[in-house]
Amino acid sequence: MKIRDMFFKKDFTLSFEVFPPTREGDIKSLYSTIQELRELNPDFISVTYGAGGSTRGKSIEIASKVKNEFNMEVLAHLTCVQSSKDDISRILDEFKKGNMKNILALRGDPPNGENKFIKTEGGFGYANELVEFIKSNGGFSIGVAGYPEGHIEAPNFEADLANLKRKVDAGTDFIITQLFFNNEDFYRFRDRSVEIGIRVPIIPGIFPILNYKQACRIASLCGAKIPSKLDRKILKLKEKPEEIEKYGIEYATIQAEDLTKNGAQGLHIYSMNRSYPAKRIVVELS
Ligand code: FAD
Repeated sequence: MKIRDMFFKKDFTLSFEVFPPTREGDIKSLYSTIQELRELNPDFISVTYGAGGSTRGKSIEIASKVKNEFNMEVLAHLTCVQSSKDDISRILDEFKKGNMKNILALRGDPPNGENKFIKTEGGFGYANELVEFIKSNGGFSIGVAGYPEGHIEAPNFEADLANLKRKVDAGTDFIITQLFFNNEDFYRFRDRSVEIGIRVPIIPGIFPILNYKQACRIASLCGAKIPSKLDRKILKLKEKPEEIEKYGIEYATIQAEDLTKNGAQGLHIYSMNRSYPAKRIVVELS
């Protein structure tokens, strides 16, 4: 089913994000995780797309398996990194062959070791161009990324929001946000999006902190602020893995409860390829 159509049928969607493991042996454990996530009845599973090319084949393989063997709806991520229009066309054909109907259209980050995104010759410079291309190809429901605190490269929040509107105008059906730890940032982002004429569903992305180093690395990569109270707490629990995980899940659950109370049209949980944290959050919410 196209994700666009889900929003006509229900007020709220639940989804989980997984990523292709870099170590060959971890794929089996990812499939066990997906099986466990399936028991939580998500509306779809999203599968990330590797930045540098190394995990791309695996992304498509995993997305196809989620759709055709696990019989769950899948949202396949796709980036413009190191791809020409012809490359993207071939991938769209693969998605079609695999019966995949939903794409999260992204520009992507610069490949490892590079600090600036460089458009591939014959490719796309920004996600709005990719959205337009996929739309013209037909047959897919298209999502894009949104940034409650503004994208890290954007000159300011409003400029980034105007660029989000370009993506929507190019044919986007829904938005999934970058992780954030302060719901007020999400509400401000959602309100301003509506004010500038964005009418598609905006799904908040929730990230349960599971360890200190990972939280700092991810937050600095995507520019998410860690509120000082949360920062103090995880720093204090730095050497206590079980306690930090428990606290991270509690924090994410409180965020999720508040978001659902305040009209979020769904929840997208960054599972980090584990089922337990997602399960705890979903159980607490129900
Ligand atoms: P864009 O929307 O193209 O924006 C990039 C920057 O350019 C922004 O600063 C924006 O303000 C600016 N901009 C946009 N359009 C224009 C324009 N027309 N003219 C001038 N400036 C413009 N990365 C991966 O590699 N693989 C993944 O699977 C993946 N999944 C993700 C899932 C989610 C939900 C999110 C939030 C992010 C994901 N990312 C992924 C990370 C994403 O690729 C990066 O954040 C990347 O830096 C930007 O991608 P984008 O699609 O938002 O780019």
